[in-house]
Amino acid sequence: MKKYMLLKRCLLTASMIGMFMASTVHVQCTEGTFYSSKEESQLIEKLRKECEDAGYTLGHFGSGSGQTDNSQDTSNQETVKQAKSCEHDYVESITKEATCAEDGEMISKCSKCGDSYKTVIPATGKHDYVSETTKEATCTEAGVLTYTCKVCGDSYTEEIPIIDHKYEESVTKDATCLESGEITYTCSMCGDSYTEEIAATGHEAGTPIVTKEAGWFTPGEKVTRCTRCEEVLSTEAMPSRFPVAYLYILISVIAIFVIVGISLTVMKKKNAKSKLAKSA
Ligand SMILES: [Zn+2]
Ligand SMILES: [Zn+2]
Ligand SMILES: [Zn+2]
Ligand SMILES: [Zn+2]
Repeated sequence: MKKYMLLKRCLLTASMIGMFMASTVHVQCTEGTFYSSKEESQLIEKLRKECEDAGYTLGHFGSGSGQTDNSQDTSNQETVKQAKSCEHDYVESITKEATCAEDGEMISKCSKCGDSYKTVIPATGKHDYVSETTKEATCTEAGVLTYTCKVCGDSYTEEIPIIDHKYEESVTKDATCLESGEITYTCSMCGDSYTEEIAATGHEAGTPIVTKEAGWFTPGEKVTRCTRCEEVLSTEAMPSRFPVAYLYILISVIAIFVIVGISLTVMKKKNAKSKLAKSA
């Protein structure tokens, strides 16, 4: 009973396909071969399974009354019986490989009765792209990267972003002790340039040089100059070779001698006067 219901459904669906194809189609669950478009073959494949599950085989179809009438077609009834006897054992073989852009084709053939049908293998849509730089990016213009499918030739492009400038630096003005210098950066690709200041170096003090030797009683002089620009940075006095402290001591000693000398002379004169007064 269940099988009968399924068979009926097969026939009914087949009638619908018939209407879909805009021509009345007479379909039987029987053995046979047919060819169809992708959509149709998918529908019929579904139908075939239902038929097979029910123990029948979906077979020949062509122009007909649009209604399945087994009683009018005794030959078909016979094929149905035959179909029941063959439990199809389909062996699939790909006759045309599907590519990224083109549909492939597969034939399923029954190893027992030779019944066969074709199935469309849909195009994979998976392109095998190879990239190639068709235009190098520079510092002013974007580049182009082209992807081309090795199989079907389909292609598309991608933008390569603008690259950084390639600046080369050169000192266009040296910095001095007091004046700043300048570095110029120039792009080797587009010629774009900009400058940067080099800060003034400032003086660099060298070792002090004696310009006037110190005498015994006269001071000397030491001068410190910049090693770069020779400018005098500082002048230093050098003390005389005879120490000042000794000079003071010497003066003090001389002063003491002078005072003592004078005192003795005065006292001698006083004594001489008083002796003269006594004797007189
Ligand atoms: Zn078979
Ligand atoms: Zn492709
Ligand atoms: Zn540049
Ligand atoms: Zn200097």
